Amino acid sequence: MSRVIGFTKSQGIYAHPYLHAACRRNADGDELCIILLMDALLNFSRQFLPDRRGGRTMDAPLVLSTMLDPLEIDGEAYNVDVVNRYPLEFYQAAMDCKLPSDIKIKRVEDLLNKPEQYEGLMFTHLSSNINQGPMVSAYKTLATMEEKLMAQLNIAKKFRCVDENDVAKLIIDKHFLKDLKGNLRKYSSQAFRCVSCNEKYLRPPLIGKCIKCGGKIIFTIAEGSVKKYFEHCMNLNRDYKLPPYLQQDLMILQRRIEGVFGKPDTKQISLSKF
Ligand SMILES: [Zn+2]
Repeated sequence: MSRVIGFTKSQGIYAHPYLHAACRRNADGDELCIILLMDALLNFSRQFLPDRRGGRTMDAPLVLSTMLDPLEIDGEAYNVDVVNRYPLEFYQAAMDCKLPSDIKIKRVEDLLNKPEQYEGLMFTHLSSNINQGPMVSAYKTLATMEEKLMAQLNIAKKFRCVDENDVAKLIIDKHFLKDLKGNLRKYSSQAFRCVSCNEKYLRPPLIGKCIKCGGKIIFTIAEGSVKKYFEHCMNLNRDYKLPPYLQQDLMILQRRIEGVFGKPDTKQISLSKF
């Protein structure tokens, strides 16, 4: 439970770091929703929740916390600095490229379980207007995944302390490969569905159309969802220096994808064009 103290022009919620970290799934840049208190108490019913597995419990507002205990929130908020100025040693250490852990700056973590955990958290820069920040997150203005990806890598290139090759590696390793391998595996054991009546089939009917309504039968997992991700991976592989193990992982994956979908068409061109 929290109190609304004002409105901003930005498409977002400004709140105490504790509140952001207390939200389910740590809504720190993605979408968040608020329910006015009386609305939750008067109008909410379990009956309104979707009837699917997960939908009834996962994101449903079934728990009401009246006290925000910093010990119960996501640990990310513990890393927030709470000083009003950085000492000279901090800047000297920065020039020497020391690790953040080598320099002692007071953080939320140092205040836990003390009265100070709720009061006197300081900051270094004053602002006269909360609307001076970005109004919309770049995650929303960039339409495609490719654009988001390029934006992330462009930032990585600008920072001297960030190795852009490492960022490319992490994106592939933690993000693309899992989805890609999962989709590829599911592709061969996928279900089919009718475009008109949404009837699901484990095997496509032999007559080639929906038994119920005669509609067209389509895949539930698209070939594109496998291939598109793989294209991104290969582009990153071309533009960045990836570790050999990951490169070989991609090569093996390429063979598996070609084994399922066939090799991409080679275009035949006339000798004169060549
Ligand atoms: Zn049908």
